[in-house]
Amino acid sequence: MVEKKLIYMDNAATTAPDSRVVEAMLAYMTSAYGNPSSRYSIGYEAKNLINSVRVTAAKLIGAQPEEIYFTANGTEADNIALQSLKLTGKRHLIVSAIEHPAVLNTARQLEKEGFLLSCLKADKNGIIQPEALEAAITPDTGLVSVMFANNEIGSIQPIKKLSEIAHRFGSLFHTDAVQAFGQLRINVSDLGIDYLSASAHKIYGPKGVGLLYARRNVPVKAISYGGGQEYDLRPGTENTAAIAGFGRAIELAAEEMQIRAVNEQKLSVHICNRILREISGVRLNGPEIIDNDFSKRLPGNMNFSFEGVRGISLALRLDMEKICVSTGSACSAGNDRPSHVLSAIGLSDAEANSSIRITIGKNNSPEEADYLVDKIKEIAEEIRQLNNYRI
Ligand SMILES: *Cc1c(COP(=O)(O)O)cnc(C)c1O
Repeated sequence: MVEKKLIYMDNAATTAPDSRVVEAMLAYMTSAYGNPSSRYSIGYEAKNLINSVRVTAAKLIGAQPEEIYFTANGTEADNIALQSLKLTGKRHLIVSAIEHPAVLNTARQLEKEGFLLSCLKADKNGIIQPEALEAAITPDTGLVSVMFANNEIGSIQPIKKLSEIAHRFGSLFHTDAVQAFGQLRINVSDLGIDYLSASAHKIYGPKGVGLLYARRNVPVKAISYGGGQEYDLRPGTENTAAIAGFGRAIELAAEEMQIRAVNEQKLSVHICNRILREISGVRLNGPEIIDNDFSKRLPGNMNFSFEGVRGISLALRLDMEKICVSTGSACSAGNDRPSHVLSAIGLSDAEANSSIRITIGKNNSPEEADYLVDKIKEIAEEIRQLNNYRI
């Protein structure tokens, strides 16, 4: 019997490195392995690589190369951005209720250290309304952090309006753009972004490298100390192979952004229509998809709740069919608490625990989409029957 092919539909958790990315990394582990701080040719070669990727990354978001700092990952970029509050001379931090744990837990740590923390509620679609920020912000607010697009339900936030309010009150504005960088068009000047976090492994690059954009002249807090690399902000010998891969991933994202988005949207609409039409007792969490309007939703991100079906049971059964989807966020998987994001948009614990997240990527095909829906239909019906759950 032929081995079934893996159907990978958890692209918000991580992505398969593109073969062109892997190829770009190899030279930095075989021949150009020099330390970028060394004064001989393979050292300069590594240094030049880092600076050229800095240019590539800056170009993608309309920034200057000196405003880009390479970090260990998206999580570290979030940590550095939030800790920079310590240099603003202000005491108040605002984050949204639907942030990734990298932001939420850093915010909670700052609160433990004596800073004041406010958490903005999301509306039922998972959007942070500007009015919520207006109500929470004070002249003592040093930093507002609202993610660009949510990893669990795909909702896209009104970043420009939020940053305008932050600036009106003299606060800086950070956005965790890990789900948006390379997927959506972003211009940091147009959108008024002071800090932005991104990560390579969410855009077909390697794990273990991210970046922080920090606008010129905003304070940036080093959270570790060492040999002066990355403008003394993020010391340690640079991960040149990973940075090379990140650079190639960014180039490919820039070239293919439009085509990837169009394909993912098509597949999402197809999957969504089929699931909502062919299976009863299902809801799509997050912004509705009406008339192919993806202005408030990532192109490939869908989260569904199935009445009478535990999300984890459905995901485990799909895994037996070699289909990868997730329950809630991979970062909070492993505990049985319902997702904080689904709770924040008003789902009951039962509804939240009956959800799965499907995130389409550039490598998924229409055949895979249909196979996924067929299997979900079959398995959901089976689980409901086993539980004597009738709709
Ligand atoms: C994946 C993710 C992160 C963490 O990035 P890592 O590079 O895995 O540390 C942060 N924020 C969001 C929204 C994410 O999706």
